[in-house]
Amino acid sequence: MREEIAGYVALQRLLDRRSALRRERDTAPEALAALRSESGARHSQMEAQRGRRETLTGEQVTLQREVEALQEEREHFRKQKSQVTNMKQLSAVVSELDHVESQLKTKEDRLLEIFQELEAVEREISSLTEETPAERAAREEAEAAWAARRKDAERELQDVDREMRIVQSHLGEAAMTRFKKLWSSRKPSAVVPMDGTACSACHADLRPSLVQVVRSAEEMPFCDHCRRLLYDPQQFASQ
Ligand SMILES: [Zn+2]
Repeated sequence: MREEIAGYVALQRLLDRRSALRRERDTAPEALAALRSESGARHSQMEAQRGRRETLTGEQVTLQREVEALQEEREHFRKQKSQVTNMKQLSAVVSELDHVESQLKTKEDRLLEIFQELEAVEREISSLTEETPAERAAREEAEAAWAARRKDAERELQDVDREMRIVQSHLGEAAMTRFKKLWSSRKPSAVVPMDGTACSACHADLRPSLVQVVRSAEEMPFCDHCRRLLYDPQQFASQ
């Protein structure tokens, strides 16, 4: 029985180790996450301003072309106006001219707006600094350190799996079935140390006779309250 309890304790410790390693492997350290999001936020702000600048510049180019065409048209109608021979022709030309002038005014107003907006965007862009070389180096160093830690965790996980297989084969199938049943209802802590004369999981005080059973390790001692398997930490010290 002592051996079976020892096997269960070993499995619980390996399972604890495995979940800690998985967490380590799958979660970026906080400091790195902060560095990443800082540089990411700055990058996306910069991208947004650059996109705005590109849109405005495109609109500016189109408008300038349209304004030039309208100015040519205006010249054409002005010449016509100086050559009219009667009132009917004059009023027709004047109406054309008015139409061109009003279109020109709308487009020139918009051009002025774009010019002012572009100035604001440029100011914004120059105030947003990209990641400095020092910040970049710090982030890359943190990335590399984490990559190395992940690799270590991955290697350790393989060791843990190997050790678990060894413990499992020592325990044998019947004992493993009992462990799995216990584990599935009490995970992630199915096998817990006694804490003085209490259960370390639910903190219930144990009956003196149960404390004796835990210490003797001659049968499987389960906490009356939470039904976890109890062991004496002095007898099953972690390596
Ligand atoms: Zn308990």
